[in-house]
Amino acid sequence: MKNDLPSKIKRGKPTFIRIKANKKKMKYNNDNVRRQDRLLEEDRAYALLCEGEYGVLSMTTPTGGAYGIPLNFVWDGQENIYIHCAPRGRKLDCIALYPEVSFCVIGNTHVVPEQFSTNYSSIVLTCRARTGLSPEERMHALRLLMEKYTPEHLAAGEKYAEKSFHRTEIIRLQTEEFSGKCKRMR
Ligand SMILES: Cc1cc2nc3c(=O)[nH]c(=O)nc-3n(C[C@H](O)[C@H](O)[C@H](O)COP(=O)(O)OP(=O)(O)OC[C@H]3O[C@@H](n4cnc5c(N)ncnc54)[C@H](O)[C@@H]3O)c2cc1C
Repeated sequence: MKNDLPSKIKRGKPTFIRIKANKKKMKYNNDNVRRQDRLLEEDRAYALLCEGEYGVLSMTTPTGGAYGIPLNFVWDGQENIYIHCAPRGRKLDCIALYPEVSFCVIGNTHVVPEQFSTNYSSIVLTCRARTGLSPEERMHALRLLMEKYTPEHLAAGEKYAEKSFHRTEIIRLQTEEFSGKCKRMR
């Protein structure tokens, strides 16, 4: 991983980018969902992609096992999800060998005891993970993450990101397609 901030980022005033959704870049595909009566409307699926607080990244381990962990994330409005993390760790070992991953975001869960059921909405994305991105893309991802999670602290966040840039890895999840389900009991 490169340590240096790109010069234009060092010199430039922080420019934060509002996420504009480009649905054409993503393939919302529910063909394989068995319960076709439980499909999540496309707009709600995109809302969950935009606003979901965290998702679970499921990976294959180097020994062929399974490994899933919760992670904060941001969607870039195109076909990519970004995750920030430490430059070492098990998830990076996994995706280095097996970049094909699944990412699941859950929203609006509510147990309905009298119905023996749970209301929910969720999306599952099929993705290809990549690290070793350019410094520009890594900084772009950090700014998107700050816009999503700390919009009221952007200036301080910019300084924080610059300071910790050398010890921050960014994972890009390029999304091939995603599906969405929901359950609403009355
Ligand atoms: C809501 C939420 C959001 C998070 N967001 C981020 C984020 O944006 N970036 C980030 O890097 N991390 C985030 N984390 C922490 C994340 O889940 C991992 O713990 C972390 O990324 C380290 O993963 P690793 O594979 O590098 O683990 P390592 O440090 O290499 O450790 C590997 C071992 O630690 C255990 N382990 C790892 N993570 C967890 C866990 N969450 N719970 C229980 N055991 C665990 C497992 O047994 C695993 O085999 C978040 C956690 C939560 C709950």
